[in-house]
This record gives sequence, C-alpha cells and structure tokens, in this order.
Amino acid sequence: MGFRNIIDRLFNSFFKDRKTLPQSTIDPYAQKVESIDDLELAKFFDESLTPEMEQAMQNYTNNGGIYNYPLQTVISEQHTIEIAKKFFASIDPEISAKINDIIDGNYPEIQLVMKPYDGKEESNVNSPTPNNKPLRVFVPIRGDLRQLYELVHELTHTLDTENGDTTTRKILGEVAPQCMERMLDSFLLGMTDEEIKKYGFDKYILEKDIKDRRITTFISRYHNAQALNNRRGNRTLDSRYMLAQIYSAHFNKFDIESQKNKIKSFIDCVRNDDFEGANSVLGIQINRNNRLQREFHIRETIEEIRNMLFPTVETNRIDKRKSKDIERNIEEH
Ligand SMILES: [Zn+2]
Repeated sequence: MGFRNIIDRLFNSFFKDRKTLPQSTIDPYAQKVESIDDLELAKFFDESLTPEMEQAMQNYTNNGGIYNYPLQTVISEQHTIEIAKKFFASIDPEISAKINDIIDGNYPEIQLVMKPYDGKEESNVNSPTPNNKPLRVFVPIRGDLRQLYELVHELTHTLDTENGDTTTRKILGEVAPQCMERMLDSFLLGMTDEEIKKYGFDKYILEKDIKDRRITTFISRYHNAQALNNRRGNRTLDSRYMLAQIYSAHFNKFDIESQKNKIKSFIDCVRNDDFEGANSVLGIQINRNNRLQREFHIRETIEEIRNMLFPTVETNRIDKRKSKDIERNIEEH
C-alpha cells in the first residue's frame, strides 16, 4: 500500500467516525468537502441505482473497458485536432485562442503530447499538476472518436491551472472537462451532412458512439461513488469524479447558449478558488444542510442515464402515435 493510500485510509476513517469536525482543526479542502458531505452523496448515489440498471450496464463492462470502451467512429489525428479547434472556437474566443496556442506549440507553459496508445493507462489519467511547469498534457491516439473526447477533456484541464491546484479545483476539477465533453456531444450531433461526409463519419454510428461514451463515463463515475461509499480507493479522486457526474447531469439541462456562458464562468470560479461562486453559476445546491436539493441532484444524475439505457414509456407512446399517424397518412393518400 502506497503512502498516499495510507493517508487516504486514515483520512477516510477519520471522517467515517466523525461526521462533524471542529472547523479550526482541519484544512480548507477538508472543510469544503465536509460542507457538501461527499460520503453521504456517495451513499445516495450508490443506493439509487436499480438492479435493472446494473444489469444493463453489464453490457458495457463485459467489453473489457469502461472509460476505454472502444468507439466505432474512426478518426485521424489531423481531423481530431481540426474538430477540437472548431469545437472550442464555438464555445468562446478567449478559450479558443489559448487552446489554439497550446495545440500549435505556441504556449510555452503547456506542452501537448499526442502519441499512439501504448497500452499504458497512465497516459490518460494525467490531469495536469499545476505546480510543475511546463504542464504536459498526454492524449493517446487510439484511432477512434475517444481521442477527440480525451483531447477536449485534457485541454479543458489546462484552463483553470493558473493559480495552482486550488481547493475548489481539488474538489470540482473534473466538472468542467466532463461538461465540455457533453457540449462536444451536441457539437458533433449538430454537424452538417457535408461535415459528416468530409470526416468520413456515419451519422448512425456517431449517435451510438456519443451515447456509449456517456454511458461508459457514467459507469466509471458510478464506480467512484461506490468506492467512496465503501471507503476504499482514493477518496479525493473518487470524490472529484463522482461530483463531475452529478454536476454535469445538472449542466446538461441548460440550453447550449447558457452552457457556453456558464462553463466559462464556472472555470473562472474554479481557477480563483471560489467554491460558492462555482456552485451558484451552475445552480447547484449541494450543501449538507440542503437535503431535498441533494437528493434531487442524485435523482437527476441517475434518471439521465436510466433514460439512455431504457427507452421510456413516454418515448414508446410517442413512437406508437407516430407510426399510427404514418399508417393514417398512408390510408388517406
Ligand atoms: Zn480529467
């Protein structure tokens, strides 16, 4: 067991035994994370998953990977970069300028390394550590759409590093990259037929890949919540990833224009260590005293994926009505 794990274990057992701590004896990270009681959120999360959902999720975990579940859309490195640049340009000019500089090698403090996937997972668990410069951002080239998601995800991590790894970043540092991935979903789905043709994509496969990416990400985050609830793993990391799922589920409810404004303000808050501001930008009320809202956020998180795993009754009804309309039209004409 590594030193870090021992510290985490001690940290975890300390919190397990004492839910409320005298504020003066703990560090700012512990204070903030205690204020949202991440362990209780993990408990809600873990207990809210239905056996049917667990069953349906097996289809994804049996395939070898979770986050690394292969996608069917093939993409070149050049197109990956081109689409990432276009995507960030659609979000915000300032963000786009920085990302372009990083990609083009004109940003000395941050070095982007894209290299063929060598079987080592270390290459994609490399949130930049802001205290070492230059930051190195690794993106493995896997030959499919995953590398575009990874590029967008890792580049987003570089947007809030200027003040080091702030307390807010330690807690909410995975939120913006995951929200950005969901905005990439919308961007890809909004591509014109011409663009889709240019990149050699297939619309049906693209839609399936986007759905698979969302589900496999959820599964991975759910495992973080489980680890947290069972007091194993690395509490700090598990907490960050679980919160990314909860926050992004709420973020996904906003329309695209609001998302663009909110993601930028949110990143500013994380960079400036404004924890309350970050929550308020996204309209998240997750403080430990706010039980109803906390339960609402978890329900929203689970519902989103349940609707993707199972076609809802409502959707079925609409489909049936549609097919009736079609039948009627055929009869009438
Ligand atoms: Zn990340």
